Amino acid sequence: MIDIPDALARFGRPEYTGENRCIPCTVLNVAIAAALATAIGVVVSPPVGALALVASLVIVLLRGYLIPGTPTLTRRYLPERVLEAFGKSPASGPMVETVTPAELTRVLTAAGVATDRGGAVRLTPAFRTRWNERLSSDGAADPSAAAVRSTLGVDEVERVGDASFELEGRRRVQWESTAALTADVAAAAELRSRLDGWDALDADERRDALTGLRLLRADCPICGGPTPATTERLEHCCRQPRVAVRAACEACDRLLVDLVVSASSAAPWLELAGATETHLEVDD
Ligand SMILES: [Zn+2]
Repeated sequence: MIDIPDALARFGRPEYTGENRCIPCTVLNVAIAAALATAIGVVVSPPVGALALVASLVIVLLRGYLIPGTPTLTRRYLPERVLEAFGKSPASGPMVETVTPAELTRVLTAAGVATDRGGAVRLTPAFRTRWNERLSSDGAADPSAAAVRSTLGVDEVERVGDASFELEGRRRVQWESTAALTADVAAAAELRSRLDGWDALDADERRDALTGLRLLRADCPICGGPTPATTERLEHCCRQPRVAVRAACEACDRLLVDLVVSASSAAPWLELAGATETHLEVDD
């Protein structure tokens, strides 16, 4: 006996269906199925055409596409703004696109905040000690809007959530957790005295540097539990592959880093996370 659900499960492609379904691919393939079925209906007979249509739609339902290679084709040929119109914009989770691989590690090592031995980037013991002293000082665990203003170097900050703030009435920034926010406020206060030019950096550059520092932490800024970084390559049918970099506390589950960047700009983050491209799980 054939186990139908099992056979369907093996035939199905979960990476292209359910919440991963690509609307442009599905629309394109349903249109192709309709055109093929119409042609068969005219050339052979209407019932055979109708049968072909049903079979094609079942395939699209289970696999996400009918024509092999559609995901690659839509990724390559559909303009970015068409994909965005279908909700394929890359905005999920904090995005960082602007840091060049050389800069972040170079700046942190130049400031005596980190060392780079053959690509193994670590916090210097002196910086780690000062950072932790600031974290354990009074009030550090509950940063005020004023502390966030000084951390990011902006004129006006309004708190809109536990770890989210509106900057100058224009844009919102959200930290992964209050633990990440606390870590950044303490680290920024320490960076200011170690890094010439810190005050001239804009908010995004500061956030990049602070996110990099959080990746270099081995322990939770709140409870001291281990915070190993993990990296994962995210394949998607119709946009460029991305890389997710995360670090969470194994003891208290607080999220320290949750970053999604394009694969082509992931190198500096992978270096800070102690991972390389070859360690990433790839499904293609
Ligand atoms: Zn913790």
